[in-house]
Amino acid sequence: EQRPARRPIVVLPDEVAERIAAGEVIERPVSVIKELVENALDAQARAIRIEVRGGGLRLMRVSDDGIGIPEDELERACLRHSTSKLSTIEDLERLGTLGFRGEALASIVTIAEMTLESRASETGDTSEERPAQFVTLRGGEVVERGRKARVPGTTVTVRDLFFNVPARLKFIRGARTENGHILHYIRRYALGYPGVRFTLVLDEHIALQTSGSGELKTALTEIYSLPLNEMLYEVGRGAGEQYRIHGYIGNRVLAQNNRQYVTLFVNGRWVQSRALYDAVEKGYRGLLAKGKHPLLVLFIEVAPNEVDVNVHPAKTEVRLLREREVLDLLTESVQAVLERSPVLPEEVKFP
Ligand code: ADP
Ligand code: MG
Repeated sequence: EQRPARRPIVVLPDEVAERIAAGEVIERPVSVIKELVENALDAQARAIRIEVRGGGLRLMRVSDDGIGIPEDELERACLRHSTSKLSTIEDLERLGTLGFRGEALASIVTIAEMTLESRASETGDTSEERPAQFVTLRGGEVVERGRKARVPGTTVTVRDLFFNVPARLKFIRGARTENGHILHYIRRYALGYPGVRFTLVLDEHIALQTSGSGELKTALTEIYSLPLNEMLYEVGRGAGEQYRIHGYIGNRVLAQNNRQYVTLFVNGRWVQSRALYDAVEKGYRGLLAKGKHPLLVLFIEVAPNEVDVNVHPAKTEVRLLREREVLDLLTESVQAVLERSPVLPEEVKFP
């Protein structure tokens, strides 16, 4: 048996290393949507419009009415490790934003064409369009700079995702699958931020729209387009304590076949965690049939220094300092609410 010849250790050329790093942050179209929507939320947007064509490979555009980016910082936003959200390692302990790595825009421009257009918000009439700056990068290089009239806020347009990463492109499923991932992601964040007006347009059709009323229950009915009122129970626990859990949980009539409708947020960040899911479902005890999962939205608030969000850019995980206590409180909160709620007969299915 012949071993393959050993290759010498080399330091990778920047462009190879950058594309590999970008691939960690951006796995598929929804990863771009996630990063852009989180940026819009960090910019305190009240309205976010998301437009997708061809499953995201042709075009993804996220527009917000947030604080914008000053002209002299626009291009810096696209550099690796450039962020306005943190400057020291201690800042990670008191993070109030979803982003902090300063990697998203830099990753996107490495493996796609991206136009960043922004006008920083200022006092006075914000409905008036004024010249603002834009920059277009493709594969890490600036290909265009210019000016365009717009209202305050930011619009990011991404085209030709993975045009220079054939290995990744091969693994992207059809537009239907990618649109499905995007819809689920926007549903979650629209639930997480009921005060923000979300519009999702998939291939020219409005797939989801919320009013930004600020009411979680309203958002739930808008997002799942069903009269859910009497099937949802309010949870509000731990006010004034170290942890707070609040939101709405569906009764067994709303039970679903998968965990797509279990929406959990920790400090404003959507999380996917087996331990948290299990703790919630434990609260339902015998109420759910085997293989059934609840529909619910719960917000878990802990002190910023009790959660480590610096796990992996693409992963929706957080580490909780006192996980056991939080898990128990979750189970108890759900259980307590269900114990005093009526039981209804049939089940309701969602598209
Ligand atoms: P991060 O979000 O981790 O800071 P990004 O690469 O996503 O890194 O963004 C870099 C910077 O660009 C942000 O820190 C922010 O200052 C600015 N930025 C990006 N998107 C927006 C937006 N929609 N509105 C205002 N500023 C933005
Ligand atoms: Mg970001």
